Amino acid sequence: MRIILLGPPGSGKGTQALRIVAKLGVPHLSTGDMLRGAVAKETPIGRAAKEVMERGDLVSDEIVIGCVLERISEPDAAAGFILDGFPRTLRQAKVFDAELEKTGSKLDRVLELKVVEAALFDRIIHRTRAAKADGLPIRSDDNPEAFKVRLDAYRTQTEPLVEYYHNCGLLRTIDGLLPVEQVTSCLLSELQL
Ligand code: ADP
Repeated sequence: MRIILLGPPGSGKGTQALRIVAKLGVPHLSTGDMLRGAVAKETPIGRAAKEVMERGDLVSDEIVIGCVLERISEPDAAAGFILDGFPRTLRQAKVFDAELEKTGSKLDRVLELKVVEAALFDRIIHRTRAAKADGLPIRSDDNPEAFKVRLDAYRTQTEPLVEYYHNCGLLRTIDGLLPVEQVTSCLLSELQL
């Protein structure tokens, strides 16, 4: 199964992806995690992405598309994947569709987690406070300034994908304000698992 999780920062994509991968038996591919890994290892991609990510802006399409195509060509992704954080621009979506078509595969579903912006701000503040209290590391883009940039990037560059995937007949929208377990059930029922 080839699935995309779509939703604004803080909508719960990462949390939900972890909860459903076990049922699906396909890997969870998070472009945010891939890029943070590259930053930590100080690879050329990491060096190019670091400042952009800290600001909350989007990393270039070329870099991200390259990372994803390389990752999905690995054997564990042959039967499918759950993508979290990609695509984030129409160009990424169209290039990705074309690349999948070349290999004779296609997306099965795009699951959108819908959460109003006010709730997203509350969640991010809560997540940062909880991490601080537990002595856990805080993401360098989890601060009000960068979060605002991330939300703007979502609204202007990523939200158009909702219509794009709706027109392809792939989109299913789930209320991301429901309790975590209920969101998971809704996602699984959209996948009929
Ligand atoms: P969140 O969903 O909480 O915003 P992610 O962990 O998915 O965070 O991504 C963190 C950052 O990584 C983004 O703000 C952006 O800078 C970069 N990034 C991740 N995925 C992409 C992508 N598909 N295109 C461009 N930049 C990306």
